[in-house]
Amino acid sequence: MNTPESLLRSLGISSADGIDLETIAWHCGLTVRFAPLTGCDARIVGKGDRGVLTVSSAQSPARRRFSLAHELGHWQLHRGRLMLCRAEEIEGSVTEARGFELDADQYAASLLMPRFLFVPAADLIKNKPPWLIAEALSAQFQTSLLATALRMIALDVWPGWLVCHTRHGRPFCFKAPSVDDIGRPPLAVDYRSAAFDVVHANASGLHARKVAGDVWFAGAKHRIAMEYARAYPPERVLTFVRLL
Ligand SMILES: [Zn+2]
Repeated sequence: MNTPESLLRSLGISSADGIDLETIAWHCGLTVRFAPLTGCDARIVGKGDRGVLTVSSAQSPARRRFSLAHELGHWQLHRGRLMLCRAEEIEGSVTEARGFELDADQYAASLLMPRFLFVPAADLIKNKPPWLIAEALSAQFQTSLLATALRMIALDVWPGWLVCHTRHGRPFCFKAPSVDDIGRPPLAVDYRSAAFDVVHANASGLHARKVAGDVWFAGAKHRIAMEYARAYPPERVLTFVRLL
């Protein structure tokens, strides 16, 4: 009974707006407070089965929610350790191998966007372009656009890739489970992609276009790719892409 989904079900939660994190935390023995923190986004001070979970009040509402859910993950999975956290919405981030932190990030994504609510909600709007789906689900689940887009990929809601580029490289890329693995997108964004204009010429807005398959995958020269790029400050471009 330690999974986020089993916790939600045990509390009878059956809708996105029913995911009241402070109530869930209280049920798990934690009192939540919001206060200025320096050096971390959130922390728990606990003794036995009770604790105080403090979340930095300086974050955006979506970030605060993610941080709170991340700490709840530590409390459920790693109780007894002192954790001072910077929650990272990029699950499986390539920055470091982070054991406990990665576990807590995955717990947070599953608690905030559980499969049994997220997939049916996405099904209702599945024919829309991916960023419109992400915006609608982000509003419904009160999660950041990035965390939501990553969840869409992880749960195969949008069978394709989500790729992040900066001027200097490709911080991360993730593939939906059902998509054939034909190699990873390039480290440097291709000049033929709208993502190039976003990252190198500060183009704003959403950019949907068809491009040659090898703009995104070296082995897809004779295919067409559909890309949906958008700026994601600071200085990043996020692109949903898939081969047609
Ligand atoms: Zn942590």
